[in-house]
Amino acid sequence: MRNEFLVFGQPLIGEEEKEEVLDCLNKAWLGTGPKVAKFELDFAAYKGASYVAALNSCTAALHLSLLALDLQRGDEVITTPMTFCATVNAIIHVGATPVLADVQPGSMNIDPGEIRKKITKRTRAILPVHFAGRACDMDAIMAIAEEHHLAVIEDCAHAIETEYRGRKAGTIGDFGCFSFYSTKNVVTGEGGLVITRKPEDADRIKVLGLHGMSKDAWKRFSDAGFKHYDVVEAGFKYNMMDLQAAIGIHQLSRVENLWKRRETVWQRYQHAFADLPLGLPAPVEPGTRHAYHLYTVLIDESRTGISRDSFLNAMTGEKIGVGVHYRSIPEHAFYKKAFGWRGEDYPHAYRVGRETVSLPLSAKITDADVQDVITAVRTLVGRSGQ
Ligand SMILES: *Cc1c(COP(=O)(O)O)cnc(C)c1O
Repeated sequence: MRNEFLVFGQPLIGEEEKEEVLDCLNKAWLGTGPKVAKFELDFAAYKGASYVAALNSCTAALHLSLLALDLQRGDEVITTPMTFCATVNAIIHVGATPVLADVQPGSMNIDPGEIRKKITKRTRAILPVHFAGRACDMDAIMAIAEEHHLAVIEDCAHAIETEYRGRKAGTIGDFGCFSFYSTKNVVTGEGGLVITRKPEDADRIKVLGLHGMSKDAWKRFSDAGFKHYDVVEAGFKYNMMDLQAAIGIHQLSRVENLWKRRETVWQRYQHAFADLPLGLPAPVEPGTRHAYHLYTVLIDESRTGISRDSFLNAMTGEKIGVGVHYRSIPEHAFYKKAFGWRGEDYPHAYRVGRETVSLPLSAKITDADVQDVITAVRTLVGRSGQ
Protein backbone atom coordinates (compact mmCIF):
# COMPACT_ATOMS: atom_id res chain seq x y z
CA MET A 1 0.00 0.00 0.00
CA ARG A 2 1.20 3.52 -0.84
CA ASN A 3 2.22 5.86 1.95
CA GLU A 4 0.84 9.02 0.40
CA PHE A 5 -2.52 9.65 -1.20
CA LEU A 6 -2.16 10.13 -4.97
CA VAL A 7 -4.20 13.28 -5.64
CA PHE A 8 -6.24 13.01 -8.84
CA GLY A 9 -5.31 15.48 -11.56
CA GLN A 10 -2.62 17.37 -9.70
CA PRO A 11 -0.71 19.75 -12.01
CA LEU A 12 3.05 19.77 -12.56
CA ILE A 13 4.30 23.24 -11.58
CA GLY A 14 7.83 24.31 -12.51
CA GLU A 15 10.24 26.85 -11.07
CA GLU A 16 9.51 29.28 -13.93
CA GLU A 17 5.86 29.52 -12.88
CA LYS A 18 6.91 30.35 -9.31
CA GLU A 19 9.35 33.03 -10.48
CA GLU A 20 6.80 34.60 -12.80
CA VAL A 21 4.20 34.75 -10.01
CA LEU A 22 6.82 36.34 -7.77
CA ASP A 23 7.50 38.86 -10.52
CA CYS A 24 3.81 39.86 -10.39
CA LEU A 25 4.05 40.28 -6.65
CA ASN A 26 7.34 42.20 -6.81
CA LYS A 27 5.93 44.54 -9.46
CA ALA A 28 2.65 44.72 -7.54
CA TRP A 29 0.74 44.20 -10.80
CA LEU A 30 -1.74 41.43 -10.06
CA GLY A 31 -4.74 42.10 -12.29
CA THR A 32 -5.20 41.99 -16.05
CA GLY A 33 -2.08 43.37 -17.73
CA PRO A 34 0.98 42.55 -19.79
CA LYS A 35 1.23 38.90 -18.70
CA VAL A 36 -2.35 38.23 -19.81
CA ALA A 37 -1.55 39.92 -23.14
CA LYS A 38 1.50 37.65 -23.54
CA PHE A 39 -0.46 34.54 -22.60
CA GLU A 40 -3.09 35.42 -25.23
CA LEU A 41 -0.41 35.86 -27.90
CA ASP A 42 1.34 32.63 -26.94
CA PHE A 43 -1.90 30.66 -26.93
CA ALA A 44 -2.96 32.13 -30.27
CA ALA A 45 0.43 31.14 -31.72
CA TYR A 46 0.15 27.60 -30.32
CA LYS A 47 -3.29 27.12 -31.85
CA GLY A 48 -2.61 29.07 -35.04
CA ALA A 49 -5.53 31.34 -34.15
CA SER A 50 -5.89 35.06 -34.78
CA TYR A 51 -8.56 36.17 -32.34
CA VAL A 52 -8.46 35.18 -28.68
CA ALA A 53 -9.71 36.51 -25.36
CA ALA A 54 -8.36 35.25 -22.03
CA LEU A 55 -10.99 34.93 -19.31
CA ASN A 56 -11.23 33.57 -15.77
CA SER A 57 -12.78 30.21 -16.72
CA CYS A 58 -14.00 28.03 -19.55
CA THR A 59 -17.47 28.48 -18.09
CA ALA A 60 -17.11 32.22 -18.75
CA ALA A 61 -15.81 31.46 -22.26
CA LEU A 62 -18.87 29.30 -22.99
CA HIS A 63 -21.25 31.89 -21.49
CA LEU A 64 -19.82 34.81 -23.48
CA SER A 65 -19.60 32.79 -26.74
CA LEU A 66 -23.28 31.97 -26.38
CA LEU A 67 -24.09 35.61 -25.54
CA ALA A 68 -22.25 36.71 -28.68
CA LEU A 69 -24.78 34.68 -30.69
CA ASP A 70 -27.60 37.01 -29.48
CA LEU A 71 -29.95 34.08 -28.93
CA GLN A 72 -33.62 34.66 -28.14
CA ARG A 73 -35.50 32.97 -25.32
CA GLY A 74 -36.57 29.52 -26.51
CA ASP A 75 -33.77 29.21 -29.06
CA GLU A 76 -32.24 25.75 -28.82
CA VAL A 77 -28.61 24.71 -28.48
CA ILE A 78 -27.74 21.04 -29.00
CA THR A 79 -25.05 19.57 -26.75
CA THR A 80 -23.91 16.28 -25.27
CA PRO A 81 -25.17 14.52 -22.12
CA MET A 82 -21.56 13.36 -21.45
CA THR A 83 -20.06 16.61 -20.17
CA PHE A 84 -19.48 18.77 -17.14
CA CYS A 85 -22.54 20.70 -15.96
CA ALA A 86 -20.95 24.04 -16.95
CA THR A 87 -21.55 23.27 -20.64
CA VAL A 88 -25.29 22.99 -20.10
CA ASN A 89 -25.55 25.75 -17.48
CA ALA A 90 -24.00 28.28 -19.89
CA ILE A 91 -26.81 27.58 -22.37
CA ILE A 92 -29.41 28.04 -19.64
CA HIS A 93 -27.82 31.32 -18.45
CA VAL A 94 -28.28 33.01 -21.84
CA GLY A 95 -31.98 32.13 -21.76
CA ALA A 96 -31.72 29.45 -24.43
CA THR A 97 -32.96 25.87 -24.17
CA PRO A 98 -30.39 23.05 -23.98
CA VAL A 99 -31.19 19.99 -26.07
CA LEU A 100 -29.19 16.79 -25.60
CA ALA A 101 -28.02 14.45 -28.36
CA ASP A 102 -26.61 11.13 -27.17
CA VAL A 103 -22.97 10.11 -27.61
CA GLN A 104 -21.40 7.37 -29.70
CA PRO A 105 -20.61 4.46 -27.36
CA GLY A 106 -16.99 4.11 -28.52
CA SER A 107 -15.77 7.70 -28.78
CA MET A 108 -18.11 8.96 -26.03
CA ASN A 109 -18.46 12.08 -28.20
CA ILE A 110 -21.72 13.56 -29.46
CA ASP A 111 -23.18 11.48 -32.31
CA PRO A 112 -23.82 13.54 -35.47
CA GLY A 113 -26.72 11.23 -36.33
CA GLU A 114 -28.35 12.05 -32.98
CA ILE A 115 -27.74 15.79 -33.57
CA ARG A 116 -29.70 15.56 -36.83
CA LYS A 117 -32.65 13.97 -35.02
CA LYS A 118 -32.76 16.87 -32.53
CA ILE A 119 -32.81 19.76 -35.00
CA THR A 120 -35.97 21.89 -34.97
CA LYS A 121 -36.95 25.31 -36.30
CA ARG A 122 -35.58 26.81 -33.05
CA THR A 123 -32.13 25.22 -33.22
CA ARG A 124 -29.43 27.92 -33.40
CA ALA A 125 -26.17 26.26 -32.35
CA ILE A 126 -24.31 23.01 -31.69
CA LEU A 127 -22.01 22.74 -28.68
CA PRO A 128 -19.81 19.64 -29.02
CA VAL A 129 -17.34 18.63 -26.30
CA HIS A 130 -14.08 16.92 -27.30
CA PHE A 131 -14.50 14.41 -24.50
CA ALA A 132 -11.34 13.32 -22.65
CA GLY A 133 -9.36 15.09 -25.39
CA ARG A 134 -10.68 12.93 -28.25
CA ALA A 135 -11.70 14.92 -31.33
CA CYS A 136 -15.40 14.96 -32.20
CA ASP A 137 -16.46 14.09 -35.74
CA MET A 138 -16.10 17.72 -36.78
CA ASP A 139 -16.60 17.22 -40.53
CA ALA A 140 -20.04 15.75 -39.88
CA ILE A 141 -20.87 18.39 -37.26
CA MET A 142 -19.77 21.29 -39.47
CA ALA A 143 -21.75 19.85 -42.40
CA ILE A 144 -24.92 19.78 -40.27
CA ALA A 145 -24.20 23.32 -39.06
CA GLU A 146 -23.77 24.61 -42.59
CA GLU A 147 -26.89 22.89 -43.83
CA HIS A 148 -29.03 24.36 -41.05
CA HIS A 149 -27.20 27.69 -40.58
CA LEU A 150 -26.14 26.88 -37.02
CA ALA A 151 -23.25 28.29 -35.01
CA VAL A 152 -20.73 25.83 -33.56
CA ILE A 153 -19.09 26.34 -30.18
CA GLU A 154 -16.40 23.77 -29.38
CA ASP A 155 -16.00 22.98 -25.68
CA CYS A 156 -12.25 22.37 -25.64
CA ALA A 157 -11.87 22.11 -21.86
CA HIS A 158 -10.13 18.73 -22.40
CA ALA A 159 -8.73 19.51 -25.81
CA ILE A 160 -5.85 22.00 -25.79
CA GLU A 161 -3.62 19.67 -27.86
CA THR A 162 -6.41 17.99 -29.85
CA GLU A 163 -6.26 18.00 -33.65
CA TYR A 164 -8.72 16.84 -36.27
CA ARG A 165 -7.65 16.21 -39.87
CA GLY A 166 -4.91 18.80 -39.79
CA ARG A 167 -6.95 21.41 -37.90
CA LYS A 168 -6.64 22.31 -34.25
CA ALA A 169 -9.57 21.87 -31.89
CA GLY A 170 -11.20 25.20 -31.15
CA THR A 171 -10.39 26.67 -34.57
CA ILE A 172 -12.91 24.60 -36.53
CA GLY A 173 -16.18 26.03 -35.20
CA ASP A 174 -17.11 29.68 -34.65
CA PHE A 175 -15.82 29.62 -31.07
CA GLY A 176 -13.40 27.39 -29.15
CA CYS A 177 -13.55 27.50 -25.35
CA PHE A 178 -10.60 26.37 -23.21
CA SER A 179 -10.11 25.73 -19.50
CA PHE A 180 -7.00 26.20 -17.37
CA TYR A 181 -8.63 24.89 -14.20
CA SER A 182 -6.20 23.17 -11.83
CA THR A 183 -6.79 19.65 -13.18
CA LYS A 184 -6.68 20.52 -16.90
CA ASN A 185 -3.78 20.02 -19.32
CA VAL A 186 -2.47 23.59 -18.93
CA VAL A 187 -3.31 25.27 -15.63
CA THR A 188 -3.59 28.79 -14.27
CA GLY A 189 -5.51 27.80 -11.12
CA GLU A 190 -8.76 29.12 -12.50
CA GLY A 191 -8.71 30.37 -16.06
CA GLY A 192 -10.17 30.15 -19.52
CA LEU A 193 -9.84 31.47 -23.02
CA VAL A 194 -11.94 31.71 -26.14
CA ILE A 195 -10.79 31.55 -29.75
CA THR A 196 -13.16 33.18 -32.23
CA ARG A 197 -13.26 32.89 -35.97
CA LYS A 198 -14.46 36.49 -36.41
CA PRO A 199 -12.46 39.38 -34.90
CA GLU A 200 -15.61 41.24 -33.84
CA ASP A 201 -16.63 38.28 -31.65
CA ALA A 202 -13.33 38.36 -29.72
CA ASP A 203 -13.65 42.14 -29.34
CA ARG A 204 -17.19 41.84 -28.00
CA ILE A 205 -16.23 39.01 -25.64
CA LYS A 206 -13.40 41.13 -24.21
CA VAL A 207 -15.85 43.96 -23.56
CA LEU A 208 -18.47 41.60 -22.06
CA GLY A 209 -15.79 39.96 -19.91
CA LEU A 210 -14.85 43.24 -18.22
CA HIS A 211 -18.14 44.83 -17.11
CA GLY A 212 -19.02 45.89 -20.66
CA MET A 213 -16.40 48.65 -20.46
CA SER A 214 -15.03 49.90 -23.77
CA LYS A 215 -12.06 48.10 -25.25
CA ASP A 216 -8.76 47.78 -23.38
CA ALA A 217 -10.08 49.50 -20.29
CA TRP A 218 -7.24 47.95 -18.28
CA LYS A 219 -4.84 50.30 -20.06
CA ARG A 220 -6.44 53.21 -18.21
CA PHE A 221 -3.96 52.77 -15.35
CA SER A 222 -0.93 53.00 -17.64
CA ASP A 223 1.30 56.03 -18.27
CA ALA A 224 -0.18 56.63 -21.73
CA GLY A 225 -2.32 59.44 -20.37
CA PHE A 226 -5.63 59.35 -18.52
CA LYS A 227 -8.47 57.76 -20.43
CA HIS A 228 -12.15 57.63 -19.53
CA TYR A 229 -13.91 54.38 -20.21
CA ASP A 230 -17.43 54.03 -21.45
CA VAL A 231 -19.83 51.23 -20.53
CA VAL A 232 -21.27 49.94 -23.78
CA GLU A 233 -23.04 46.76 -22.56
CA ALA A 234 -24.06 45.26 -19.21
CA GLY A 235 -21.10 42.92 -18.90
CA PHE A 236 -19.59 40.49 -16.44
CA LYS A 237 -16.44 40.21 -14.29
CA TYR A 238 -14.71 37.45 -16.22
CA ASN A 239 -11.21 38.81 -16.87
CA MET A 240 -8.04 36.78 -16.34
CA MET A 241 -5.45 38.19 -13.90
CA ASP A 242 -1.71 38.54 -14.55
CA LEU A 243 -1.20 36.31 -11.49
CA GLN A 244 -3.01 33.54 -13.37
CA ALA A 245 -1.35 34.23 -16.73
CA ALA A 246 2.05 34.11 -15.00
CA ILE A 247 1.46 30.41 -14.36
CA GLY A 248 -0.11 29.81 -17.76
CA ILE A 249 2.74 31.30 -19.81
CA HIS A 250 5.19 28.67 -18.54
CA GLN A 251 2.67 25.84 -18.50
CA LEU A 252 1.98 26.58 -22.15
CA SER A 253 5.66 26.64 -23.05
CA ARG A 254 5.82 23.05 -21.72
CA VAL A 255 2.49 21.89 -23.16
CA GLU A 256 4.04 19.41 -25.60
CA ASN A 257 6.29 17.84 -22.95
CA LEU A 258 3.35 17.47 -20.58
CA TRP A 259 1.33 15.92 -23.42
CA LYS A 260 4.11 13.45 -24.22
CA ARG A 261 4.28 12.33 -20.60
CA ARG A 262 0.51 11.78 -20.44
CA GLU A 263 0.62 9.88 -23.74
CA THR A 264 3.23 7.53 -22.26
CA VAL A 265 1.11 6.91 -19.16
CA TRP A 266 -2.05 6.44 -21.29
CA GLN A 267 -0.31 3.82 -23.45
CA ARG A 268 1.09 2.09 -20.40
CA TYR A 269 -2.41 1.74 -18.98
CA GLN A 270 -3.72 0.47 -22.34
CA HIS A 271 -1.11 -2.33 -22.38
CA ALA A 272 -1.38 -3.16 -18.68
CA PHE A 273 -5.17 -3.58 -18.78
CA ALA A 274 -5.51 -5.24 -22.21
CA ASP A 275 -6.27 -8.67 -20.68
CA LEU A 276 -8.71 -7.43 -18.01
CA PRO A 277 -12.52 -7.52 -18.30
CA LEU A 278 -12.66 -3.70 -18.44
CA GLY A 279 -13.95 -1.32 -21.09
CA LEU A 280 -10.83 0.50 -22.30
CA PRO A 281 -10.67 3.73 -24.32
CA ALA A 282 -11.08 3.21 -28.06
CA PRO A 283 -7.92 3.56 -30.15
CA VAL A 284 -7.22 7.10 -31.32
CA GLU A 285 -9.02 7.73 -34.62
CA PRO A 286 -6.68 8.00 -37.64
CA GLY A 287 -6.09 11.60 -38.72
CA THR A 288 -6.69 12.94 -35.23
CA ARG A 289 -4.58 13.81 -32.22
CA HIS A 290 -5.87 12.93 -28.77
CA ALA A 291 -5.07 15.37 -25.95
CA TYR A 292 -4.94 12.54 -23.36
CA HIS A 293 -6.76 14.59 -20.75
CA LEU A 294 -8.58 11.64 -19.18
CA TYR A 295 -7.92 7.91 -19.10
CA THR A 296 -11.25 6.24 -18.39
CA VAL A 297 -12.15 2.59 -17.87
CA LEU A 298 -15.67 1.15 -17.80
CA ILE A 299 -16.55 -1.15 -14.91
CA ASP A 300 -19.40 -3.43 -15.90
CA GLU A 301 -20.16 -5.35 -12.71
CA SER A 302 -21.41 -8.41 -14.61
CA ARG A 303 -17.92 -8.78 -16.11
CA THR A 304 -15.67 -7.42 -13.34
CA GLY A 305 -17.46 -8.78 -10.29
CA ILE A 306 -17.18 -5.39 -8.62
CA SER A 307 -19.54 -2.44 -8.98
CA ARG A 308 -18.26 0.90 -10.24
CA ASP A 309 -18.92 2.62 -6.92
CA SER A 310 -17.24 -0.17 -4.92
CA PHE A 311 -14.28 0.14 -7.28
CA LEU A 312 -14.11 3.91 -6.64
CA ASN A 313 -14.09 3.29 -2.91
CA ALA A 314 -11.55 0.49 -3.14
CA MET A 315 -9.16 2.64 -5.21
CA THR A 316 -9.50 5.49 -2.71
CA GLY A 317 -8.82 2.89 0.00
CA GLU A 318 -5.58 2.07 -1.86
CA LYS A 319 -4.72 5.80 -1.55
CA ILE A 320 -5.28 6.41 -5.24
CA GLY A 321 -7.47 9.37 -6.19
CA VAL A 322 -9.94 8.58 -8.97
CA GLY A 323 -12.61 10.59 -10.78
CA VAL A 324 -15.96 10.16 -12.52
CA HIS A 325 -16.29 12.00 -15.83
CA TYR A 326 -19.22 12.11 -15.80
CA ARG A 327 -22.53 10.94 -14.45
CA SER A 328 -24.66 11.80 -17.48
CA ILE A 329 -26.27 15.24 -17.42
CA PRO A 330 -29.93 14.07 -17.37
CA GLU A 331 -29.34 12.12 -14.15
CA HIS A 332 -28.81 15.29 -12.11
CA ALA A 333 -31.71 16.53 -10.01
CA PHE A 334 -31.94 20.04 -11.46
CA TYR A 335 -32.13 19.01 -15.12
CA LYS A 336 -34.63 16.28 -14.34
CA LYS A 337 -36.87 18.82 -12.68
CA ALA A 338 -36.33 21.69 -15.14
CA PHE A 339 -36.52 19.74 -18.40
CA GLY A 340 -38.06 16.39 -17.49
CA TRP A 341 -34.94 14.63 -18.80
CA ARG A 342 -34.40 10.95 -18.03
CA GLY A 343 -31.06 9.20 -18.16
CA GLU A 344 -32.54 6.23 -20.01
CA ASP A 345 -33.40 8.46 -22.97
CA TYR A 346 -29.67 8.89 -23.67
CA PRO A 347 -28.67 5.23 -23.26
CA HIS A 348 -25.01 5.45 -24.28
CA ALA A 349 -24.21 8.41 -22.04
CA TYR A 350 -26.25 6.79 -19.28
CA ARG A 351 -24.22 3.58 -19.41
CA VAL A 352 -20.88 5.41 -19.57
CA GLY A 353 -21.95 7.58 -16.63
CA ARG A 354 -22.74 4.53 -14.53
CA GLU A 355 -19.63 2.52 -15.41
CA THR A 356 -16.85 5.06 -15.93
CA VAL A 357 -13.83 5.68 -13.72
CA SER A 358 -11.01 8.11 -14.51
CA LEU A 359 -7.55 6.93 -13.42
CA PRO A 360 -4.73 9.37 -12.52
CA LEU A 361 -3.18 10.82 -15.70
CA SER A 362 -1.47 14.08 -14.83
CA ALA A 363 2.08 14.77 -16.00
CA LYS A 364 3.02 14.99 -12.32
CA ILE A 365 2.60 11.29 -11.57
CA THR A 366 5.76 9.20 -11.46
CA ASP A 367 6.43 5.77 -12.96
CA ALA A 368 6.06 4.35 -9.45
CA ASP A 369 2.64 6.03 -9.13
CA VAL A 370 1.59 4.51 -12.46
CA GLN A 371 2.71 1.08 -11.27
CA ASP A 372 0.68 1.51 -8.07
CA VAL A 373 -2.41 2.34 -10.12
CA ILE A 374 -1.86 -0.68 -12.38
CA THR A 375 -1.32 -3.01 -9.42
CA ALA A 376 -4.43 -1.74 -7.65
CA VAL A 377 -6.63 -2.07 -10.75
CA ARG A 378 -5.30 -5.56 -11.56
CA THR A 379 -5.87 -6.67 -7.97
CA LEU A 380 -9.44 -5.35 -7.91
CA VAL A 381 -10.66 -6.73 -11.23
CA GLY A 382 -7.96 -9.18 -12.28
CA ARG A 383 -9.26 -12.24 -10.50
CA SER A 384 -12.79 -12.31 -11.81
CA GLY A 385 -14.37 -12.32 -15.26
CA GLN A 386 -12.97 -13.90 -18.43
C1 LIG B 1 -13.68 21.83 -16.73
C2 LIG B 1 -14.75 21.88 -17.77
C3 LIG B 1 -15.50 23.03 -18.02
C4 LIG B 1 -15.42 24.24 -17.16
O1 LIG B 1 -14.14 24.78 -17.09
P1 LIG B 1 -13.84 25.89 -15.98
O2 LIG B 1 -12.57 26.53 -16.47
O3 LIG B 1 -13.67 25.18 -14.68
O4 LIG B 1 -14.97 26.84 -15.97
C5 LIG B 1 -16.38 23.02 -19.08
N1 LIG B 1 -16.56 21.93 -19.83
C6 LIG B 1 -15.88 20.79 -19.62
C7 LIG B 1 -16.10 19.62 -20.50
C8 LIG B 1 -14.96 20.73 -18.55
O5 LIG B 1 -14.30 19.60 -18.30
